[in-house]
Amino acid sequence: MSTKSLGRVLTSPGGHWVGDGFPVRSLFNYMEHAQELSPFLLLDYGGPAEFPPTSERLGVGPHPHRGFETVTIVFDGEVEHRDSSGAGGRIGPGDVQWMTAGRGVVHEEFHGREFARRGGPFEMAQLWVNLPRKDKLTAPRYQEIHAAQIPSVEHGGARVRVIAGELDGARGPALTFSPLDVWDLRVERAGSLELPSPDGHTAALVVLSGEVRIGAATVREAQVARFERRGAGLRVEASAGAHLLFLGGQPLDEPVVGRGPFVMNTEAEIWQAIADFQAGRMGALS
Ligand code: MN
Repeated sequence: MSTKSLGRVLTSPGGHWVGDGFPVRSLFNYMEHAQELSPFLLLDYGGPAEFPPTSERLGVGPHPHRGFETVTIVFDGEVEHRDSSGAGGRIGPGDVQWMTAGRGVVHEEFHGREFARRGGPFEMAQLWVNLPRKDKLTAPRYQEIHAAQIPSVEHGGARVRVIAGELDGARGPALTFSPLDVWDLRVERAGSLELPSPDGHTAALVVLSGEVRIGAATVREAQVARFERRGAGLRVEASAGAHLLFLGGQPLDEPVVGRGPFVMNTEAEIWQAIADFQAGRMGALS
């Protein structure tokens, strides 16, 4: 079987702020790309940005989620989180927070207090992963994954941290509801990079910095190469020093209806989510 060919290159329409702490570029979103990137719904790339020291709390105050998971990967700086299930924590460079909103949480996301006080470079990504219909109302779950728990493998000129899924026998620590891969790649040697991806699976290579070439196409910073599902594995030419995220997985093949922080399967379920949130049934921050 031949390798997957390039489907298309997604380019962020521009940047915006999430609260007053997170200057992000949305590299894809569920309004436009939910089916082609299933099970992935959204990717916000935050920074890189330099924050001066402050005694303010920068970030985003209490807001709900239902029906999916938010995955926060910190590359530089610190993110603090607290939610209505009682979970919370602070993650720093290399750490990942994998939060299952399931039937609903209310949470807040801020810069870490220590980081805010001293200021400095800030860079992160937040990925939204859809839940299969049968798991959308599962109990909320919080996985705090520290850098030291994430296996790292040398793979074809790149150092790859396996956050979820499996590469070259290294298994990522994240528990997921459908088969998927999230890998954080730093290209150490320019040249050909081949990644495994089963026939039929979604496969996307996110370029955070540097560039990759795929045939005649060049994919640059803050762009996403979305591959065709047909074919096994993919091959790109990567520049030295490139920072990439690989997202792969079995498509859910279910309807996606989203409104702001809620992503369900039907319009009626969205109205229910809004009603449940307004009635306090997703809890509150103490
Ligand atoms: Mn949130």
